[in-house]
Amino acid sequence: MKITLAQAMGTCFGVQDAIDMALDPAFKDRLTIVGQLVHNPQTTERLKANGVRIVERDQIDNITTEAVMITAHGASDATKEMLRQKGFTVFDATCPLVIRLHKLARFLEREGYFPVVIGEASHVEVRGVVGNLRAAAVVHDEEDIKQLQGHARIGIVSQTTNRPEMVSRLVTAIRAQPWVEDVRFCDTICQPVKERQQAIGMLLSEDIDLGIVIGGMNSANTRKLQELISDRGIEAHHIEGPDNLDATWFAGKHHVGITAGTSTPQDVIEAVHAKVRQLVGQV
Ligand code: SF4
Repeated sequence: MKITLAQAMGTCFGVQDAIDMALDPAFKDRLTIVGQLVHNPQTTERLKANGVRIVERDQIDNITTEAVMITAHGASDATKEMLRQKGFTVFDATCPLVIRLHKLARFLEREGYFPVVIGEASHVEVRGVVGNLRAAAVVHDEEDIKQLQGHARIGIVSQTTNRPEMVSRLVTAIRAQPWVEDVRFCDTICQPVKERQQAIGMLLSEDIDLGIVIGGMNSANTRKLQELISDRGIEAHHIEGPDNLDATWFAGKHHVGITAGTSTPQDVIEAVHAKVRQLVGQV
């Protein structure tokens, strides 16, 4: 059994910076994060073990610390202002690439385009971007394009974790609508996500017949890495850690590829790698 680790995988700079900020000793026992700082269960547990409190966005009234932190996924200005109005000191861990997405969406709106965000309407990053616009539409598939009827000038941005081919397919479909006269597209898919997706292409070119994808179940970019493998008809399993591995997956397989989403810590990747080696009898 051959085991290959993807050339690019695991924690990106945006996630690492957010974790480092939250784990600053100055914040010990006096910081509350609104929402999951990153979509990864091990990181969430590590933060809690370091005295960081985490509340969901609908539990803001339960916050007892003065300091609150916005997650790497960002939030709308209205959300930040609401927190300040409630008397909190707001620390912002929004990733610079998410800030860029916010800026470009606002730029398109200022230029007179109707803003369209390609992504998942319920995702916290998309909600933050839409919350900063006067009006906008979220498009996730071809069916959603109908809601753009009547808008002749359309400005498009993408959730940072989308697959480029999915975004380009939807941009092309929007351009083809008979009522659309002008489309301006700003590519806001983040570079670390692209690199992790490209690394899957390399694994596929090496003929893996099993993919192990590590990351939180609610991590959008991890789910997309799994899709990239399974869309090619290759068995792929999305796991959160070594305990989720199942020995039966490896029976009759020749080459396993391992990858991880942008919020998966290195120690979790190493633990999964070690367990895979153990399961296939390499230790
Ligand atoms: S995945 Fe990209 S946008 Fe999201 S935190 Fe990491 S670098 Fe930033």
